[in-house]
Amino acid sequence: MNHSKPSHTPTDQTGWQALASQLTLEGRAWLDGGYQGASSGETFACISPVDGRELARVASCDQSDADLAVAAARKAFDSGVWSHLAPTKRKAVLLRFADLIEAHGDELALLETLDMGKPIRHARTVDVPATARATRWTAEAIDKVYGELAATPHDQIGMISREPIGVVAAIVPWNFPMIMAAWKIAPALATGNSVILKPSEKSPLTAIRLAALAKEAGIPDGVFNVLPGYGHTVGKALALHMDVDCLVFTGSTNVAKQLMICAGQSNMKRVWLEAGGKSPNIVFADAPDLKKAAAEAASAIAFNQGEVCTAGSRLLVQETIRTEFIGLIREALKTWRPGHPLDPATTCGAIVDQAQLDRIIEYIGIGQSEGATLVEGGKRVMEETGGLFVQPTVFDGVNNRMRIASEEIFGPVLSVIGFSTAEEAVAIANDSIYGLAAAVWTSNINTAHKVAKALRAGSVWINHYDGGDMTAPFGGFKQSGNGRDKSLHAFDKYTEVKATWLVLE
Ligand code: NAD
Repeated sequence: MNHSKPSHTPTDQTGWQALASQLTLEGRAWLDGGYQGASSGETFACISPVDGRELARVASCDQSDADLAVAAARKAFDSGVWSHLAPTKRKAVLLRFADLIEAHGDELALLETLDMGKPIRHARTVDVPATARATRWTAEAIDKVYGELAATPHDQIGMISREPIGVVAAIVPWNFPMIMAAWKIAPALATGNSVILKPSEKSPLTAIRLAALAKEAGIPDGVFNVLPGYGHTVGKALALHMDVDCLVFTGSTNVAKQLMICAGQSNMKRVWLEAGGKSPNIVFADAPDLKKAAAEAASAIAFNQGEVCTAGSRLLVQETIRTEFIGLIREALKTWRPGHPLDPATTCGAIVDQAQLDRIIEYIGIGQSEGATLVEGGKRVMEETGGLFVQPTVFDGVNNRMRIASEEIFGPVLSVIGFSTAEEAVAIANDSIYGLAAAVWTSNINTAHKVAKALRAGSVWINHYDGGDMTAPFGGFKQSGNGRDKSLHAFDKYTEVKATWLVLE
C-alpha cells in the first residue's frame, strides 16, 4: 500500500479484502528513528485470528534491544531536542501526528482488525478516531498547563513547576492496541519525555506503523521507539531497567503486580497501572427505559467481543424485573452475532488468539459446573473459517461468589445476579478485588446518587454504559490500578514536581 496517499474507505468486505491484499505489513522494531530487526535476529509469527493466516514475522526483541532503545531515548532526552522544545512546538508536531493518524485511518483500522480480530466497522469508527482524538486533545492542552507560585513571605519566591520525568516505558495490551498506546504516548510526549512503547505480542502491527507516522509528523529520532516482543523478555527488561524513569502499563492485574516488584528490585521507577475489572451494571426496576438499558447491557458485554477492561460483565438486576430483562437482553444480543471482521455489517468479531478462546470456553464450562443457568450462546462458531469466534453468552442465576462472577474472563460472557434492595446491590457490586467501572440505571435521582457515591469504582455511569471522553480521567480503584489516563490528570504520571525557592537579597 502506498503510505503517503490515503485511500477511499471501502464500503464492503470485498473492498476491505482488496485493500488488505495491498498492505505492507512491517514487523521490525522502530529504534532511534528507523526500522530495525531484533539484535538476536529472532522473530515470531503474527497470526490473524480472522482466518488463522500468518500476517508477518515480527521482531522478538529482548534485553539487548531494550538497552539500545533506552540509550537512544536517554540521548534524545538529554539533548533537549524534544524535552526543551517550547510546548507550542511540541503541540504543533503532535497535532500533525493526529492528522496523519486520521489520514491513514483505513490502513490503521485494517491492521488492527487483521491483527486482533475486532470488526472493521469499530476499528474504523471507534479505534482510529479515538486514537487521533486522544493525541489531538492532549496536544491542545499542553500549552495551557501552568506552574504555581507558593504563598511566600514578601522577600521570597517559591516556584512550583512540572518537568518531564525522562525515559518512559509504556507496556500495553491487545484489546485496543492503538487507543491504549495513545492514552500513554500522547501525554508522555506532550510533556517532553522520550518514550519506548512495547505493544502486546498479540497485536504489534499498529504500534510499529504509528512510530513511522510520528517521525513523518516531526518527532525527533530517539524520542519515540517501539519494541515488539514478549512480556517476559523485552517487557521485563524494560520493567527492570535501571535507566527507565517511569513505567506505564495497561494489562492484567497479575502482570501489574509483577511490575511493581520489578520497580522495587531496580531503580524505584514510577509505576502507573491500569489493570483488570469485573464491572457491575446495576439495573433497578424503575430504570427510565428498560429496552435501552438492555441494549446497552448487551453492548457492554459483546462490544469488542467482551475483550474490554470495563466490560459490564456482572449484570445486577432487581428481582422484580429479572425475567423480563433477560428476555430483552437476549433480544438485543441478536444484533451482536459473530461475523467476518472485514464485513462492515459485523458487530462481533474474532477472539484475539487460541489461548484466549480456550480461556473463554473454559469459563463457560466453569459457569455450568458451578450451577449457573446458561440462557444464551455458549458455543464456538464459524470454525470452518479458520478464525476464532464465540457466541455472546449469558448466565442467569449467578451468585457473586462463583468464579464466573469474581474472575475477569475477558470475553463475551455475562453473569446475571439478582438483588432486592439498593443496599444489597451496592454490597454485591463492591464485593470484588476490582474497582474499574460501574453503572446504575434508575429514574430516582436519590437512588442514582446514593448508589454512585457508594460504588468503589474509578468511573460510574448513570443511565448509560461506558460514557465519557478525553475530558474525564480514567482508571481504577483497588486492584484495577493506580493513577489516571486521559484528561489533565494524565500529566501527573509523566512529570516530576519541582519546588524552586528563592530568598531575595
Ligand atoms: P497482559 O497483562 O497479559 O499483558 C499486557 C502487556 O504486558 C503485554 O504487552 C504483555 O506482553 C506485557 N507483559 C506480560 N508479562 C509481562 C512481564 N512479566 N513483564 C513486563 N511486561 C509483561 O494483559 P493482556 O492480556 O494483554 O490484556 C488484557 C488485560 O488488560 C485485562 O486484564 C484487561 O482488563 C486489562 N486492560 C485494562 C485496561 C484499563 O485501562 N484498566 C484497559 C485495557 C485492558
